[in-house]
Amino acid sequence: MDLFSINEEVGTGLVLWHPKGTIVRRIIRDYWEEEHLKNGYQLVCTPHIARGELWRVSGHLDYYQQAMYLFEKDKEPYVVKPMNCPFHIQIYKSRPRTYKDLPIRYAEWGTVYRYERSGTLHGLMRVRGFTQDDAHIFCTAEQVDDEILKILDFTEHILQKLGFHKYNVYLSTRDPKQPEKYMGSEEDWKLAQKALAEALERKGIAYHRMPGEAVFYGPKIDIYIVDTSSREWQCSTIQFDFNLPKRFNITYTGPDGKEHEPIMIHRALLGAIERFFAILIEHYKGKLPVWLAPTQVKILPISDKYTPYARKVHEKLQAHRIRSEVDSDSFTISHKIREAEIQKIPFMIICGKREIKLKKVSVRKQGIGNIGIVTIKEFIRNIKSERYR
Ligand SMILES: [Zn+2]
Repeated sequence: MDLFSINEEVGTGLVLWHPKGTIVRRIIRDYWEEEHLKNGYQLVCTPHIARGELWRVSGHLDYYQQAMYLFEKDKEPYVVKPMNCPFHIQIYKSRPRTYKDLPIRYAEWGTVYRYERSGTLHGLMRVRGFTQDDAHIFCTAEQVDDEILKILDFTEHILQKLGFHKYNVYLSTRDPKQPEKYMGSEEDWKLAQKALAEALERKGIAYHRMPGEAVFYGPKIDIYIVDTSSREWQCSTIQFDFNLPKRFNITYTGPDGKEHEPIMIHRALLGAIERFFAILIEHYKGKLPVWLAPTQVKILPISDKYTPYARKVHEKLQAHRIRSEVDSDSFTISHKIREAEIQKIPFMIICGKREIKLKKVSVRKQGIGNIGIVTIKEFIRNIKSERYR
C-alpha cells in the first residue's frame, strides 16, 4: 500500500512515513485534536530532547537509563525523550495554580525514543521511535471520579469512530499485602482504585481485576481492542501517578489557602500511533473506510482520449478536498478497474464518451461494482455526506 518503510541505513525500529501513510496519520491526528479541543483538553508541544537534570528529577536516569538515548553537549548530559510527562509537568509548573484552574488537561502527539533490543523489534508493532497520543490530567481529589468517567466516555468515542467496538478491559490494583512496594498514601490508592472501578461499573463495562499488577506509582486501566480476527491488542491506558507530582513538587492552592498536591493521570487512547496504525490496517484488512483512505477516488479514463476530462474531474474533486488520482496509463479499462480494486480504493469514476456527453461520471464502489451515473456535483455531495460509505 506504500504507506511506510523501515530501512537499515536509517536504523531499525525507525519508521519512514510515506505520503499515503502520512495522509492517514494526519487525518487521524486532525480528528483527534479536534475532539480533544471539544472535550476540554489543551494542546501542547514539547521538545525532543532535554537536559539530563530533568530526567534525574523524574527518576528516569536511575530506573530507566538502559532504555534511553543519552548524549553529551558542553559537558552536560542530554536525553532524547522517552516520555512526555516531565514536559507537561513543567508547563503545569510554569505558573502558580489554584483549585480554580483545575482540572488541567494537556494533550500532545509526542514523539518519543526508547532503546529496544533489536531482537524484539517487529515492523510497526515494536519500534524505537514512536508517537504517543499522550495526555496528562491534573485535578483535585474531588474531581477524580468525574475525570475518569470522562476519559472512559472519550476513549470509547474515539475508538468507535476508528472502527473498534469490542474491548477487553483490565484494572490493575496494588497487592494489599505489600503496601511498602508502592508510592502514595493508603488514601491515594483507595481513592484512585475506587474511581477506576466505579467508572467502569457506572458505564456497565465488564472488566478483569488484576490484583498486584499495578506499577509502583499508581493503579491503572488497560483497554485492549479486539480486531475483526478476534485478536486483542493493548491500546488505551489510564494511569494514576503518585510519584511524579512529588518528585517535581507540583502543587495548587486550595480553597483553604494552603498548598496541595494535585492528582496526576497519564492517559493514551491509541497508544503508539505506529502500532495503532498496524492494528488499523489489520482490522480493516487494508480496506480503510472512506474518511481514512489515502486515495478515496481513482478516476479511470476509458482511453487516452478521455484523460483531459478525467483531469478536469480530478481538479474539481481536489478543490473539495476529496483525495483522488487519475489513472492515465494506457491499459484497458478492465485492467485499470482491477488495479484500483487491488489497491482497495473505495471509489472509481469512469470517464468515457457517454459520460462527457451527459456531463456526468459513472461511479463504481470497491468490492461492489457499478453504482450509477451522477453529475460531479452529486458525486461530491454524496461522498461528503457519507451517503457513499
Ligand atoms: Zn505520562
